[in-house]
Amino acid sequence: MNIFKKNYINGQWSDALSQKTYKVNNPATQEFIADVVDSGKEDAEKAVQSAHAALAGWSAVPPKEKANILKAWFNLIMENQEALAALMTSECGKPLVESRGEVVYGASFVEWNAEEAKRISGMTLPATAANKRLMTIRQGVGVCTAITPWNFPLAMITRKCAPAIAAGCTVVVKPAESTPLTALALAGLAAQAGIPEGVFNVVTASSGAEVGEVLSTHPFVRKISFTGSTAVGKILLKQAAGTVKRVSMELGGNAPFIVFDDADIDAAVTGAMASKFRNTGQTCVCANRFYVHESVASEFAEKLSKRVSQLVIGDGSKEGVDQGPLINIAAIDKVDSLVTDALQKGAKCLTGGKRHDLGGSFYEPTVLLNVTPQMSISQNEIFGPVVSIVTFSSQEEVIDLANDTVYGLAAYFYTRDLSRAINVSEQLEYGMVGINDGVISTEIAPFGGVKESGLGREGGQTGIDEFLETKYICISEV
Ligand code: NAP
Repeated sequence: MNIFKKNYINGQWSDALSQKTYKVNNPATQEFIADVVDSGKEDAEKAVQSAHAALAGWSAVPPKEKANILKAWFNLIMENQEALAALMTSECGKPLVESRGEVVYGASFVEWNAEEAKRISGMTLPATAANKRLMTIRQGVGVCTAITPWNFPLAMITRKCAPAIAAGCTVVVKPAESTPLTALALAGLAAQAGIPEGVFNVVTASSGAEVGEVLSTHPFVRKISFTGSTAVGKILLKQAAGTVKRVSMELGGNAPFIVFDDADIDAAVTGAMASKFRNTGQTCVCANRFYVHESVASEFAEKLSKRVSQLVIGDGSKEGVDQGPLINIAAIDKVDSLVTDALQKGAKCLTGGKRHDLGGSFYEPTVLLNVTPQMSISQNEIFGPVVSIVTFSSQEEVIDLANDTVYGLAAYFYTRDLSRAINVSEQLEYGMVGINDGVISTEIAPFGGVKESGLGREGGQTGIDEFLETKYICISEV
């Protein structure tokens, strides 16, 4: 697989009009990986124009043909799993085993939407008069833009672009500054798969704001799909309002992870490890606040700390490493200040609690007990390998605690009581709930949040709906 370093616009690999580039470095070793194109507004404009020019042709391609092209893309992604995983690990730091998993997860959206492309149907409706026939058809919304984060360099692109392309839309993607190479590799495979010129475009940039402004305000763009922080999501929502674009927002999370007194504690520890430590704690669905019933808190904390202290830290490209570095120094500074604040306010550190001896942006996997809901660590998205445990005494109390946040993406709880499983899942104000399960994402189910965690759903049968408009057609006999 080739490593591409230029923008992919209208089927061509191109430099920025300004000729500017920026450097991509490996967060584990700080080594230089590549110079990539540093796009500006004019490059984003060129990409939107290219997507606009390709729209009529692509939307007219028969669904089965679209499906076959997407399947070819899926096959190529899977054939290049190892090379894509190595590239991803080099630019975002996640362990190879997780990068391999992300390739499979990301590819699954391409396969799923290749299948969905053939099932976009409308309805016939009861007529209101003898000479009338009423029907609906569903059509792609038009030119779409996608702005994606660094923590899932591949899957956040395919989760948006595969349904868009299956629906007959054309797309411009702006990947995160830190992880452009995986996006460009995907573009290379898209070209090889036969996705026509202009249908899938990638512009890389060191400034999300400049390119993002064009992608969220350009009148040719009918839909913007964003994954990233709630703060940037709010900026994009405001910008998109000017031309009343459709929007999908996959934003920040502050996931509660509740362990009730009747839980299988060993299963809860396994679920906590899987939910908390994926990508070194840097996923939007990572458990962020652990609420453990006071009668089982010591057992849970002790068993979890034992597992956490066994995690192997290091360069994610080395086999056997469980935890890579955080994405950059700003990220580790944030995690360290949240932990320091909690410790100063009375939290007890069971393991970890400081920067790792490896230096750079490596942080020791940490477990904190005696955390309170008032501490900053309970109120902010930690985005790092830190478990913070608050104890509770009743179901009502813990539901109030869990819902006491502006976020509403994922929530998890462990119980063996069926009534509790039903009641608690209904009362949690979240878009996704895992019961006795710490890993819930799949291409088959709708992914998304409520409150300030976002708008819309990705994946599942609803994923493609986000890229379709329903048109009502009324036919009168004359
Ligand atoms: P971020 O700072 O919001 O960046 C996300 C993307 O937005 C990047 O491509 C970034 O470009 C771009 N961007 C930044 N400022 C912009 C602006 N003013 N206008 C347009 N685009 C702009 O988020 P992040 O730190 O990379 O990612 C972590 C966040 O994403 C967390 O809050 C996490 O919970 C959330 N997330 C949510 C989901 C979900 O599905 N709900 C999934 C993954 C992550 P640059 O890289 O160039 O700054």
